Amino acid sequence: MQVLISNETGFCSGVKRAISITQNLLKNSNDRIYCIGPLIHNQSVIQSLSKQGLITVDSVDDIPAFSKVLSRAHGLIKESFFSLTNKNCSIYDSVCPNVKIIKEKAELYENKNFRIIIYGDEKHPEIKYIASYLKNYIILNDITDFSFLNEGGSFFVVFQTTFSTNNHSKHIYLLREEANKMGKIVDIFDSICYTTLARRDSCIETACLSDAVIVIGDKTSNNTVELYNTALTKCEKVFFVSEPNEVLNISPLIFSIKKLGIVAGASTPYELIMEVISLMDDLLNQENSKIDEVKKVSEVPVQEDDSVSKVVTIKDKDTEDSTMESIFQSISDKPRRPLRNGQIKEVIVSDTSNKDKLIISFDPMNRKNDHGYIATEELDSEGKLTPADFSLGQKFYAVIKDSQQSQTVEFSKKDFERIEKEEEYVEQLKAGKDVELTCTDVAKKIDGQKEFETGLNFKVGRYTVYAPKSQLNYTPGKKLAALVGKKVLLRILPPKEGEEKKKNNKWNIYAGQRAIAQETEDAFWALAVVGKVVKGTVVRYGEKDGHYFGAFVSVSGHDCLAHISELTWGRIDHPDKVLEIGKEYNFVVLESDRERNKVSLGMKQLTKQPIEILAEKYPEGSIVTGKVERIMPFGAFVSIGDGVDGLVHISQISYDRVDKVESVLEVGQTVSARIIKYDGSKVSLSIKDLLEPPTQDEIDEIRQQKKAERDHKFEKQDKPVKRSDKKIEKTQELEHESKPQRKTTKRSDTLKDYETRDHISSQSLGATIGDTAEAKKLLLQLEQEEKNK
Ligand code: SF4
Repeated sequence: MQVLISNETGFCSGVKRAISITQNLLKNSNDRIYCIGPLIHNQSVIQSLSKQGLITVDSVDDIPAFSKVLSRAHGLIKESFFSLTNKNCSIYDSVCPNVKIIKEKAELYENKNFRIIIYGDEKHPEIKYIASYLKNYIILNDITDFSFLNEGGSFFVVFQTTFSTNNHSKHIYLLREEANKMGKIVDIFDSICYTTLARRDSCIETACLSDAVIVIGDKTSNNTVELYNTALTKCEKVFFVSEPNEVLNISPLIFSIKKLGIVAGASTPYELIMEVISLMDDLLNQENSKIDEVKKVSEVPVQEDDSVSKVVTIKDKDTEDSTMESIFQSISDKPRRPLRNGQIKEVIVSDTSNKDKLIISFDPMNRKNDHGYIATEELDSEGKLTPADFSLGQKFYAVIKDSQQSQTVEFSKKDFERIEKEEEYVEQLKAGKDVELTCTDVAKKIDGQKEFETGLNFKVGRYTVYAPKSQLNYTPGKKLAALVGKKVLLRILPPKEGEEKKKNNKWNIYAGQRAIAQETEDAFWALAVVGKVVKGTVVRYGEKDGHYFGAFVSVSGHDCLAHISELTWGRIDHPDKVLEIGKEYNFVVLESDRERNKVSLGMKQLTKQPIEILAEKYPEGSIVTGKVERIMPFGAFVSIGDGVDGLVHISQISYDRVDKVESVLEVGQTVSARIIKYDGSKVSLSIKDLLEPPTQDEIDEIRQQKKAERDHKFEKQDKPVKRSDKKIEKTQELEHESKPQRKTTKRSDTLKDYETRDHISSQSLGATIGDTAEAKKLLLQLEQEEKNK
């Protein structure tokens, strides 16, 4: 047979405390010590204490004046307390603190005009004790009974410490919901003792693992009766045993059982459990059978205690031949694993009355060193919580801050919450997500006398994420220490050869940066296609020798250059005229060369060219006014708005011959001109087009002049030029110069000049109307005549 002992056995802290106070009192006093009703619900213990001098009576009347009286663990009712005081009795308080706090809170709320609702058994001494100090209360035995909500006023709800029901949290939730629905003020104190809940849970676990269960305890003990009922819900064969001898009655029923569970109430001593097991073993021996092993059902309280199996095997090589007594001893005295700072444990609230610290228990075995505390400032990161915000029996996880204190280990709930938050990042990493972590230190290896940097460590909660050097994006030769304190985007990786050990430790995670970088790089080049519009953040301005040549823009983490000439259609001397460092803008990819790792961006391409805007505003033929910006041998550039300069070709300045532009125009002069042509980014202007065209007489005169010139030229070709002829020529030249310019200007008669004139004339004439059209016709006629000759 295999015996499975519930994890929750032995005296609870309240019972231990009451027995300890009683024994001390008996030891240090020669007087009789009285107690009204049994100190705890266990006959065998009471008998043992009575042998030491404790007298249990039924009422105050049985106690003589001036006696020493012990209040029982469940409390001393108010009437008895005052009667004893009137009899000048000395009263010694052994009330369990968990019970006392219910009474105190209830009194407090009653003083604030709350009605007290007590869920529990009205005959139970604990309820009698609490109720005796109250006036305005209702006792309800059914946890689903919310009928009190139909009455007026506010309510304060408490529970009998041993009022163990399945899903009591659910009922509390439902009560809150109902109260909210009805708009009632209901304050609930979840006062069910954690020992009761832990015993019930362990009882369920034991019953599930067993073929039959023996529940050991006193039949007057409420929590033992509850355990019996609970075990029955999970196992068909459940036996209630108050005395070891009662095992004789049930032994025939359990001889054939392979797995026997043992469950005990909060007031059942270990010795009684041991006696029951020992007797069982004797009985089995008589039947040529035996108990093969005794196991304790473990609770596995915290995550890191992986090595602790669900069920702790007590019987090992050393105990194989031990007696049942020594086996039991090994269970109860089994040394705890050494506690260490930083360890996480599930704790249970056991006292909320101290405003400076929350008293907790952290060992379900409830051994002597199982108590600790959480200082108020360690309850939460915002410093809002106080011990009063917690309920007795409430469970949560906390981190050991100082394990060296023997009786009161210091915990921190705040630290656990921080660790839990941090470890969410590791969970994401483990789930395959890329996570940004802050580097905490450089991992190093010592080889002989030398120390080598091997990678980076990222301490996250209880984990260490390790990124080897080969998996980091860093410039070789640079010290890894520069990355300490910086955030690094990481991805979990399978371990490389030789790293298995590190990987196999569940608190070490192996991660790297390279795969992410490669992906980012590929994604960038897929994006950097010529003509594509990309988003980029300005990182810095490009400058050389005091000249700003553009801006470096980060596109998906890749630096690209946007040259200053590609930022706007007009001229700017600094990129800050249009770009601000740190801001994101749209750019067009102008050049993309992965081999040279070069990407050029432009921004002006995303806007219309000024010349396009101008063309919409001033179509060809429109008259514009502007200033002469600069003069060239072939014409003048005139600023006509929006950063556009139009060219007035030298031939378009006047109908008269213009040899030098500056003889007619000067820089800064305001002129009006007609737009005669848009050609890509160029715009041609004509001043001439706005002038009066030559008249018929003037054209005739020009024609005559040409004829004369031509005749003169032929003559010169036929005969050698005489000195006197030269004189005539000179005289003509002087005459030409002395005439008004307009009338004396001759059109060039070289072929090139004719062509140019023809081109310009056609341009300007084509853009004019009326007289100008007539002039064109005349000029063409003239030119045709010239050609024919
Ligand atoms: S069961 Fe809980 S409330 Fe009752 S005496 Fe024990 S510790 Fe106190």
